[in-house]
Amino acid sequence: MASSFDFDFFVIGGGSGGVRAARMAAQRGARVALAEMLGTDGLGGTCVNVGCIPKKLYSYAAHYGDSFHESAGFGWEGEAPVLNWSTLKTNRAKEIGRLNGVYSNLLSGSGVSVFNGFARIDGEQAITLATLHADGSPGHQHFTAKNILIATGGTPYVPHFQGREHVITSNEVFDLEPFPQRLLVVGGGYIACEFASIFNGLGAKVTQLYRGEQVLRGFDNEIRHFVAGEMIKSGVDLRLNADVVDVRKTADGLAVECEGGSTVMVDAVLYATGRVPNVKGLGLDTVGVAQGGQGEVVVNAQYQTNVPHIYAVGDVTNRVQLTPVALGEAMVVVDQLFGPAAGKPRRDMSYDFIPTAVFTHPNIGTVGHSEEKAREKFGAITVFRSEFRALKHTLSGSSERTLMKLVVDSASDRVVGLHMVGPDAGEIVQGFAVAMKAGATKAVFDSTIGIHPTAAEEFVTMREPIRN
Ligand code: FAD
Ligand code: NDP
Repeated sequence: MASSFDFDFFVIGGGSGGVRAARMAAQRGARVALAEMLGTDGLGGTCVNVGCIPKKLYSYAAHYGDSFHESAGFGWEGEAPVLNWSTLKTNRAKEIGRLNGVYSNLLSGSGVSVFNGFARIDGEQAITLATLHADGSPGHQHFTAKNILIATGGTPYVPHFQGREHVITSNEVFDLEPFPQRLLVVGGGYIACEFASIFNGLGAKVTQLYRGEQVLRGFDNEIRHFVAGEMIKSGVDLRLNADVVDVRKTADGLAVECEGGSTVMVDAVLYATGRVPNVKGLGLDTVGVAQGGQGEVVVNAQYQTNVPHIYAVGDVTNRVQLTPVALGEAMVVVDQLFGPAAGKPRRDMSYDFIPTAVFTHPNIGTVGHSEEKAREKFGAITVFRSEFRALKHTLSGSSERTLMKLVVDSASDRVVGLHMVGPDAGEIVQGFAVAMKAGATKAVFDSTIGIHPTAAEEFVTMREPIRN
C-alpha cells in the first residue's frame, strides 16, 4: 500500500551523519528527503567544509615547513620556499567544492531528494522548509514524513567577554585574510591544539591560552604533558592557567588583556572553546523533543528521541563529536528503520575503544583508556612506555621526540589503552584499534612480529613494564 506521507524518511542536515543516513536509507528503497540549509555548498557538513578535511589539508601544508627545513640534513640544498597563503586557501576551496559535488552526486544517484533550505519540525511527522524563491523572496514548503532524523550538528561556542565581536572561530579561520602573523588561540581541546600547531607550522607566531593545568583534558596525562612539551619546543607559546579578560582593537592589531594583567598583541584571536548543538529554530519545543543542558537532543540506545518518529544522530546529541561516530550512528538508525543491507547483520554501535587522533604537530593517536581511567576501572594495571627520537630525526636535526604507551589490565593481560605522540600517530593507531576491539592481550602484542624499521614496531617490542 502506498504511504500517505510525502517521504518515508526526512533527514535534517547534510553533514556526516545526515548524508550517510539519507543515502543508505534510499539504497534500501525508502523515499528519502534531505534538507541542508547551506544548499549544495554545505553538503558534507562541518567535517568537509570547516572541519576534518580542510584542517588536515592545512596540517599537511604546515608539515611542509618543517620538511623543507629538515631536508638539509639529508643533503638537499637551496632556499626554503615561502608559503603563499592565497594559493593554499584557493586550492583548499577548490577541493572542498569538488567534495560538495561528490556528495551531491552520491545523494542524487541514490535517489534522495535534496532541498536547499532551513528545516523546522512542525509536528511529529511534519516539516516546514524555509527556502528562497527564484526572485530571492522567502518562501515555505511543507512536507510530511513517516520518520524524521535530526542531524544538524553543532556550532562553535564562544563565552561572553568584552570585545567578543573581534574574535573568530574555526568556521572563519580557514579564510583569514591576511595571514595572521601573530595568532592567539584560546582553549585547550582538539581544535585549539590543532590550530595552534598548524599556524605555528605555517609560520605564524602563536600564543595559546588555556584556562586549566594542562591541555587536552581527558587524554592520558603523560600524553598531555608530552605533546604540550613538543608544541612548546616547536615554537607555540603555551600559557596554562590563563584566560582572556578583554580584546580591544588598536592601530597595531588586537590587544588581548589576560588575567593577571599581561597584554598580548596579535592579528587574530581564535576561540576554540567547545561546540554546542545546532538546535536553534528547529522547532523541538513544538513537539516536545527532550533536550539536555546544552540543548542537545536526548536519544535512547536506538537514537530515538522521546517522540517516537523523531531520531537524532551526530554532534546534535552532544556525545562523541567525531565523524566516524556520526556515520556509525546513522547506519544503526537506517538498519533499524529500513532493515540491514542484504546478507548483513543489523548494525550496532559500541562506544568502547573508539580510536581518535589529534592532529597536533606531532600527532596524537589514542585508543582505549588513559592510564588514570584504566587504574580506576581495573585496579591492577601494567604500563609499558617507550620514548625515542625517530630515525628520521637523526639526520633531520629536529629534536622532536616520540612517545608510545601501552596500558594493560594485569588480571586479563588485555591491552586496554594504547597511546602515541609522534608522526602519523593516527595512521598507526587505527590498525591497533582493530586488535584492541578484538580483545588482544599483551601476549598477542608480544608474539606479533614488528615491521622494521618503523616507529609502529615499538608497540610490539615493549618488554619491560615501567609501572604496575
Ligand atoms: P555536521 O557535519 O555539523 O552537519 C550538520 C549539517 O546540518 C550542517 O551542514 C548544517 O548546515 C546543517 N543544518 C543545521 N541545522 C539545519 C536545519 N535546521 N535545516 C537544514 N540544515 C541544517 N572529527 C573527526 O572525526 N576527525 C577530525 O579530524 C575532525 N576535525 C574537526 C575539525 C574541526 C575544526 C571541527 C569543527 C570538527 C572536527 N571534527 C572532526 C568533528 C566532525 O566534524 C563532526 O563530529 C561531524 O561533522 C559531525 O557530523 P554531524 O552530521 O553530526 O553534523
Ligand atoms: P573541546 O571540548 O575538545 O575543547 C574545548 C576547550 O575549550 C577545552 O580546553 C575547554 O577547557 C575550553 N573551554 C571551554 N569553555 C571555556 C571558557 N568559557 N573559557 C575558556 N576555555 C573554555 O572542543 P573543541 O572546540 O576543541 O572541539 C569540539 C569537538 O570537535 C571535539 O571535542 C572533538 O570531538 C571534535 N574534533 C575532533 C577533532 C579530531 O578528531 N581530530 C578535531 C577537532 C574537533 P576545559 O577542558 O577546562 O573544559
